[in-house]
Amino acid sequence: MNKERILKKGARAAKIATIATVFLAITKGVIGFLSGSLLLVADAIHSAVDIAAIFSSWFGLKISQKKYNKKFPYGYYKAENFATIIASFFIFYAAYEIFLESYDKFFVITDFKLPLLVLTVPLSSAVVSYAIAIYEDKVGKEINSQSLVANAQESKVDVVSSLVIFGGILLAYFKIGYIEGIVGMGLSFMIIKIGYQNAKIAIYSLMDASPDKELEEGIKELILGIDDVKDLSGLKLRQSGLFVFGEATIKLLKNMNVARAHDISEIIEIKVKESFSQIDALSIHIEPYKTDSIKLLIPVKEDNGLDSGIVMHFGRAKYLLFITLEDKKISSFYVKENIYFDKDIQVGLLVSRNVLGEKVDAILTKEIGEIAFHLLRDSFVEIYLIKVADVKQSIEDFNQGNLKKLEKSTHLSNK
Ligand SMILES: [Zn+2]
Repeated sequence: MNKERILKKGARAAKIATIATVFLAITKGVIGFLSGSLLLVADAIHSAVDIAAIFSSWFGLKISQKKYNKKFPYGYYKAENFATIIASFFIFYAAYEIFLESYDKFFVITDFKLPLLVLTVPLSSAVVSYAIAIYEDKVGKEINSQSLVANAQESKVDVVSSLVIFGGILLAYFKIGYIEGIVGMGLSFMIIKIGYQNAKIAIYSLMDASPDKELEEGIKELILGIDDVKDLSGLKLRQSGLFVFGEATIKLLKNMNVARAHDISEIIEIKVKESFSQIDALSIHIEPYKTDSIKLLIPVKEDNGLDSGIVMHFGRAKYLLFITLEDKKISSFYVKENIYFDKDIQVGLLVSRNVLGEKVDAILTKEIGEIAFHLLRDSFVEIYLIKVADVKQSIEDFNQGNLKKLEKSTHLSNK
């Protein structure tokens, strides 16, 4: 379901619930007034408060549908969180009102006409409120709407409240008042708790609190399962109305090219949005992955393994010795012939291109031309200056951190 349809679905549910609640308030008000039942009139006032709560949810979901623009680049989704806070205020007010009403019940026993009709109203109201609660809860959870879920909880209280009113009217008919007063007060405390919980969730969302540990874990697992993603850190999520925005840092091998790295970040965003429909956007920051494994290149004279003699100039080596270090220890090595050995021009460029295919992390050499230096450095290959023409000693020096890292070439390329 796309965002527009989600918001429309929520707004429609809030609209239907608003209309049903208006109908309840009017019925209770009219029959309460005609019969002279104060309890029913009080319940009509309660329903009027409920209208304000559910209407604010409708309003919030309506505003949320507005398209993002220059002034509101993240859209209007937080209108829904505001709506929840406003709804909470009305919920608090309803609790206050029920409390006062219940307090009065201790002292006043009212007389009223049309007892059968008056008793039917709260019972039907309980049924209608129950239907509203189920509907709000179903849609609210489906589309992740706090304000609808808050109203659903309030509607469930309405069911209990209607039954209490029914009991109260029945007891009033037999001239007993205090039981209803006690139950009503208990009810008002329950409503305060609902208002508090919902206001808290809404304020947390407005303050960009992390919305959901489970969602976070799910996203983490999904991203780490994507090919080439070596690690993930700094996953941050924030709720904005019905939707969640996020950011994360992923680690990719440092010699990966930019186009591939970008593809991976796109794949992550698409997959996360597919699996978690509440995610609106996930921005990915990319960092190079650091390993304990490092691949070195040393230009050599002959194919004699680690005992080969080092050639002073990188481009002019007849052979290239590749060494992989794991935890500073030589784990493997191989020698390749430099096919550009006797090329007269641009030898540095040709050799460098050849070297990049081997995914080398660092080159140990005595001399390197300008073109080769820049080409290699731009591909994140580091270049170190060797001190002695001995392979094993140079690796030892490299491991000890005794080799100087070159910041520029040792000479121009036309040497
Ligand atoms: Zn209510």
